[in-house]
Amino acid sequence: MNRRRRIYEGKAKILYEGPEPGTLVAHFKDDATAFNNKKHEIVDGKGVLNNRISEYIFENLNAIGIQTHFIKRLNMREQLIKECEIIPLEIIVRNVAAGSIAKRLGLEEGTQLPRSVIEFCYKNDALDDPMVSEEHITAFGWASPQEIDDIMALAIRINDFLCGMFRAVGIRLVDFKIECGRHFEGDTMRVILADEISPDSCRLWDIDSNDKLDKDRFRQEMGGMLEAYQEVASRLGIHNINTEHKGTGPVLVK
Ligand code: UDP
Repeated sequence: MNRRRRIYEGKAKILYEGPEPGTLVAHFKDDATAFNNKKHEIVDGKGVLNNRISEYIFENLNAIGIQTHFIKRLNMREQLIKECEIIPLEIIVRNVAAGSIAKRLGLEEGTQLPRSVIEFCYKNDALDDPMVSEEHITAFGWASPQEIDDIMALAIRINDFLCGMFRAVGIRLVDFKIECGRHFEGDTMRVILADEISPDSCRLWDIDSNDKLDKDRFRQEMGGMLEAYQEVASRLGIHNINTEHKGTGPVLVK
């Protein structure tokens, strides 16, 4: 059915060749995975929500001069993006202790960290994305010292923007993960934000109730994952999300 050339398939997205050189089409799937794919389910409509939430965030980041791979949304599940060379790191920004840092450092979940903390993991499923230091990153050539500086500056700006954006709608940004890529334009290379930012890659807690509005609902088998993602979208003012699958005809999007 799909005549485009498939470039890559990951856990949550498929990348196809784009309509013009230097572009790709990212297709958001409904697959929910956790613990490095050991837990896997299909959550109908998740791809549509993440496509839309990530579009909203990347568009806002583009608008304040943070370079991202996002060009435009094409339909409910797909967006047009700039091709870039993914740097094999998961960059985690933390504001509040949760998940692995809470375990590692013996911190109580929900403790505000003294300042925002950036961590790097080597993107390698076979190794379970181990945490690495700047020493490892430069020694193994995954990124240069200048690129690490660029990535950290980007991560801090994104964190500041997202903290404010979510706070304004009653959500606490506990932590999130980003991925960056090298984008080439003529002779110049620039580190840009790639992948996605969505409730799949963030911890989002309701400010008043501490209710989890993110993928932890799936990881911890709490139920209500899709409803939580819908809540995030609706608080951000993202409307017209048709998450139901009715028939096979085209779906009109705004
Ligand atoms: N995260 C992610 N993909 C990963 C690992 C982590 O998107 O492969 C996100 C996760 O959703 C959370 C943040 O990065 O918002 C920090 O995750 P942590 O290191 O605490 O790992 P976890 O507790 O998920 O094992």
